[in-house]
Amino acid sequence: MPERKNIHFFYRKGTQLQDKIDRLKNIAIDYGFNLVDHFRDANIIASIGGDGTFLQAVRKTGFLEDVLYVGVSTGQLGFYCDFDIDDISGMLDAMLNEQIEVRRYPTIKVQIDKDSSFYCLNECSIRSGIIKTLSLDLYIDDLFFERFKGDGMVISTPTGSTAYNKSLNGSIVDPMLSCMQISEVASINNNHYRTLGSSFILSSARALEIRMVDDGNTSPIIGMDNEALSIRNNEFIRIELSGKRIKTVKLKDNSFWHKVKRSFL
Ligand code: NAP
Ligand code: MN
Repeated sequence: MPERKNIHFFYRKGTQLQDKIDRLKNIAIDYGFNLVDHFRDANIIASIGGDGTFLQAVRKTGFLEDVLYVGVSTGQLGFYCDFDIDDISGMLDAMLNEQIEVRRYPTIKVQIDKDSSFYCLNECSIRSGIIKTLSLDLYIDDLFFERFKGDGMVISTPTGSTAYNKSLNGSIVDPMLSCMQISEVASINNNHYRTLGSSFILSSARALEIRMVDDGNTSPIIGMDNEALSIRNNEFIRIELSGKRIKTVKLKDNSFWHKVKRSFL
């Protein structure tokens, strides 16, 4: 499959694993792959590290839809890393196999005011950057839904449901469902403030709009997966499922639910 032969390795520079990475590159060349320095020339982008590195690999290369992202783990196998750096021939065999199956992971699109938009593979989180709570008005499509007061909100994709969302008691969602889950971070609930209290899931046909309520907290922080952004408190945020899907390799006996079982049970 010549169209799958250009491979770009993404890793954090200065890593102590340089020897292993060099060995990996040599094995890839032996298998007939071309190593490309720039991800724009690649058909396969192999991230070397953990899930955090995979998130960075996808973000730094711009959420490309026409490449196959492959996660190579340097420690324990995670959710985005299907291969182990010490057992790499299985990965290269899989890449060369014409029967290779891909899976496509839904992403969410986050629009801040009119001008800038971002994609997330795990989640978008909105948190107070100071000790004071944050107040947010939530709209589902055009319906005013609730006024939230607390530490923040996390809007996760299905694959992100096992990450931050899980720590907030959100549900684990099968990535074959295109949807997003909204979970609260420490909401205040009393006779003045009322929120739903449980996580909820929106379909791909809906949008969530979050408007900052000006109550003196001017320091909200937005997290896009593992990258942070400061925003002004008068801005609005619109979040919906994006049309972009991230392609990864689908392996036998390593489905999403295998990974959930392996990691948590
Ligand atoms: P980190 O703070 O170093 O790591 C958080 C942990 O989450 C790591 O063990 C990471 O795995 C794991 N992880 C990442 N994506 C995952 C996924 N989809 N399912 C299950 N576990 C996942 O930061 P990071 O490594 O750059 O990862 C960023 C992610 O951390 C964020 O997207 C967010 O989901 C999560 N996070 C969680 C909390 C929380 O649970 N309280 C708070 C902040 C952020 P690796 O070790 O393989 O990288
Ligand atoms: Mn990490």
